[in-house]
Amino acid sequence: MSLELPHFPYHRDPQASGSLRRTDDACECCGQSRGVLYDGVVYTRSKVKALCPWCIASGAAADKYIAAFFDADFYDDAGNVVELPEHFYRSVFGCTIGFSTYNPIGWWVHCSEPAEYITRIEPYEMVFQCKKCGARHSIYDPD
Ligand SMILES: [Zn+2]
Ligand SMILES: [Zn+2]
Repeated sequence: MSLELPHFPYHRDPQASGSLRRTDDACECCGQSRGVLYDGVVYTRSKVKALCPWCIASGAAADKYIAAFFDADFYDDAGNVVELPEHFYRSVFGCTIGFSTYNPIGWWVHCSEPAEYITRIEPYEMVFQCKKCGARHSIYDPD
């Protein structure tokens, strides 16, 4: 399938990650049926289920449902939690389409910025890449 999707600066290929499902159902946030919806966990107290990638990318879903698409923190190379400016939490956890992991993930931070999630290398490697210097880092995610 080929789709025109919104750009997610922190998640390179949502289609490859299995984060999308083809459907004619409408998005509950914008009411539009664009042929594809997010297929993953929505962290919210609201009962919303059907969200389109555009409402996730724009932040509309995060705002309307106080929703996040990851239950994560930011981590450095040594596995320590790092604090980043508030807008990064919104961009990464609220405006980035989710992907599934076996374990809670620590989102890799390099050069003082959240890295971009690139891909999963089976069986256990989640590969991230620094958006500034291009360094790569794998997070171990055993099942
Ligand atoms: Zn929508
Ligand atoms: Zn870097």
